[in-house]
Order: sequence, then structure tokens, then C-alpha cells
Amino acid sequence: MSSFFAASAYKAKNRLRRFGLAMQQHRSLIQALQWGTVAVYFTLLIIPACLDLPPQGATILHNMVMFAQFVFWGIWWPFVILSMLAVGRLAWCGVFCPEGALAEWSSRFGMNKTIPRWLKWRGWPTAAFIMTTVYGQLISVYDYAQAALLILGGSTLGAMLVGLFFGRGTRVWCRYLCPVNGVFNLLSRLAPISFKADQQAWNAYSGPPPANPHCPPMINIRRLHGVSACHMCGRCAGFRNAVALQPRSPNEEVLLYGAQKNSPWELRLLLYGMIGVAIGAFTWTANPAFVRFYQTVAGWLVNHNLYFPLEANAPWFILTNYPDHGDSFSWAYGACIIVYILASGLIFGGFCSALLSLAGTVSGQGRVLKLHLAQALLPIAAAGLFLGLSATTIKILGYSGVHFSWIAAARLFLLSGGALWSFYLGGRLLGRYTLGRTRFLGCFALYSLCLLPIITAWYFMFWGW
Ligand code: SF4
Repeated sequence: MSSFFAASAYKAKNRLRRFGLAMQQHRSLIQALQWGTVAVYFTLLIIPACLDLPPQGATILHNMVMFAQFVFWGIWWPFVILSMLAVGRLAWCGVFCPEGALAEWSSRFGMNKTIPRWLKWRGWPTAAFIMTTVYGQLISVYDYAQAALLILGGSTLGAMLVGLFFGRGTRVWCRYLCPVNGVFNLLSRLAPISFKADQQAWNAYSGPPPANPHCPPMINIRRLHGVSACHMCGRCAGFRNAVALQPRSPNEEVLLYGAQKNSPWELRLLLYGMIGVAIGAFTWTANPAFVRFYQTVAGWLVNHNLYFPLEANAPWFILTNYPDHGDSFSWAYGACIIVYILASGLIFGGFCSALLSLAGTVSGQGRVLKLHLAQALLPIAAAGLFLGLSATTIKILGYSGVHFSWIAAARLFLLSGGALWSFYLGGRLLGRYTLGRTRFLGCFALYSLCLLPIITAWYFMFWGW
């Protein structure tokens, strides 16, 4: 039996290695796929923004605006998140991402300037993710084609402009500024495959000196181990007979390399952004507390004869304003959304951060353990993101008359799966430190407490409110 599993594992490993090499050898096919995606992307981004809003009762099969909305927010976003867990960055960043392809393409003709220090600031992915998430909610990016064109098109334009200024044939935008680069970097740590450089094979290589592979995100290929910044484009596969696409445990990168990934900005992105801000952005429309909050603010404004903030006269690119659709936000409503989402980020992020700091103190390992242990929350963060984004999928399909009786069970399964995986990963991770029984239990209890409000928030989002 064990030889059967060993043979299967060997075959799977070989297949993956060959697949990685095929990616390196068939660049023109990958480029064709990338340009095909660019064409579809621009078509679905630009044409719907020039059309009228869909009439009442329109469906994704009969209305292009609805169809584009479904492709972008119903399929693209949730399944890109899922693909990060399934195959790392290989499918999206490595093959299909139109923004990456355009950033790289424009930088081939650009000025090739040196990348300035401000652009390399490690806080950009966190700041960009939070700002884009909040702004997207203010202009209802999931519901209107103009809003999607503004946010996605603006990001694509930014990627191309950065490419025109900095680097030569590289993806400077993707590495430093892309609003979802940090999220992809974190989520892909749970992927069961990655490109790796075998140090022994690298040192033993005695063939003719090979040309250095062109790595778009500018990774040090020699140290390609647990590098979630790798876009998995496959261009370095087979280099010095040492680099190959390989299977791994989904826990490997967090357990083995997580302690070295000690950026406080990654911790902030995970706790305040992917957990806190994401919960705020997905729950404000469902949470009755938000309605009460807005009513209190509006009542206070009326009592003080301040009527201007209650007017819904902001242009659509500042606040949602589609009077024909009966969908317009007042200034006060927009301010309440910002406060709610940012407060959610601060409450969830601050709570988890404080507990993890305490766990660091209890363990005697301090900040090292805090930054490492936070990464064990990745599965529950990923489950939350997927559940929140796929709620849009279900909503749009519902408009078109498609309903799923099993959706509540599937959500429960995903939420429990993410939570159990995080519990398990936290326990395994703490087991790697020499803590002793009491300290281990104390740290695990503190870590487990982080999971409770996250699970509760998602529970209320789908079953409580
Ligand atoms: S290290 Fe660079 S060249 Fe190699 S797969 Fe990753 S992104 Fe591509």
C-alpha cells in the first residue's frame, strides 16, 4: 500500500515538474492566452460602461451589463481567490492577469528609470487594499459598470504608467503597488505547489553558463523556497537543472518559512485588511447596527439643522448616485460607510493583534512568534474573503432566477473548514517552538480567541441577520 502511494506521489511530482517546464517552453501560448484575456477584459470593462443601466428583470444571459458584472464580480474575483489556494499565483499572476501582462509590456518601451524608494514602501499593498476596498463600497463597484471601469481601469492605467517609467520588461506595479498583490502573496502561502530551487542541484550544475531567466517580479531565483512573491510564471523552470514546479504541503510555507517573513505590514494587511476591513465591507449592507448608526447620525444632523450632509448630490465617482435606479448615497451615508468599515478593521485587527502580542509575551518569543502565528489565521481569512465575494455571485445569479438549495450547507462547510484549518495550523505552528506545556496551552488559548469574533461575524452575515 505504501509503495502504491509512493509511486503515485512520484508520478504527481514528475507531472508537475514537466508542467513547469512546459510553461517555460511554451511562452508564446501563454502570451496568446494573456492577450486573449486582455481583449476580453477591455471588452467587458469598457462596453458595459457605455450602455444604459439594466432594466428591471434583466438577466446575465440577456443583458451585457449584467453579464459583465457577473464575470467580474461573480466569477473572476471569488475564483481568483480560490485559485490562490489551489495553485498559488500560477493561474492568475503567472498566466491570465491582464494587468500584469500590460505592465510588463509597457515597461518594454519605457524609460527604464531606477525604482525610487517611495515606490518600494512596504505599506503600499496594505494601504492600496484598504483604500480600494472602501472606495469600491462608496461607489458600489459591484453594481455599476462605470464604477468598475473607474477602479479596474484606473488600476490598469496605473500599472501601464508605472511600467512606462520604471524597469525594463518587469512588473514593478505588481511587485510594489498592485492593491491585491499583498493579498495574493499571503493567500498563495497555502498553495499545495510552488516553484523551488534545489540548492544541491544548483551548486552541482556544470553545464555551459545559462542565460539568467527574465523574472518579471525580480525574484532572487537562487533562493526560490517558500517565496510567495513569485508569480509562478514558469520562466525559470529547469534553470541550472535546479528549478522546478513541485508539490508541497499547504502548511509548508507558513510552518517552515513563516518565521522569516516578519514584515509588520503583512501582519497589518492580514489582520486589519483581509480580516477586519473585509468583514466591514461585506457586512455593512446586512448589519442592522449600520442602519441604526446612520439613523442616529441623520437624527443628530436634523436636530442641529444641518441638512447639507443629508443631500445625495455627490457625483457617482465620489458616492453612488443613480437616481433613476433609486440608488443614491448622501454625504452622511457615505461617511457612515467609511466609519463602519474602518472601525471594523480597527476592532477586528486590533483585537487579534493584541491577543497575538500577548501570546508572543506568554511564549517568551515576543514579536517573532506574533508575526509567525498571525499567518496561521490565513485559512479563516481566505474562507471569509471567498464567502463574502461569492455572496455577490449568488446575488447576481438570484437576479437571473438561479437559486441553489445547498448554498447554506456549502457556506457552513467552507467556514468550518477555514476555522478548523486555522486551529490546526496554529497548533502545529506553536508546536515548532520550545514552549513547555503551560505556555503552549496559554498561547493556543489566546490564538483561538482570535478566531471567535471572526467566525461570529461571518455567522451573523449569513445566518444571524
Ligand atoms: S521566480 Fe520569477 S521567473 Fe521564476 S517562476 Fe517565479 S516569477 Fe517566474
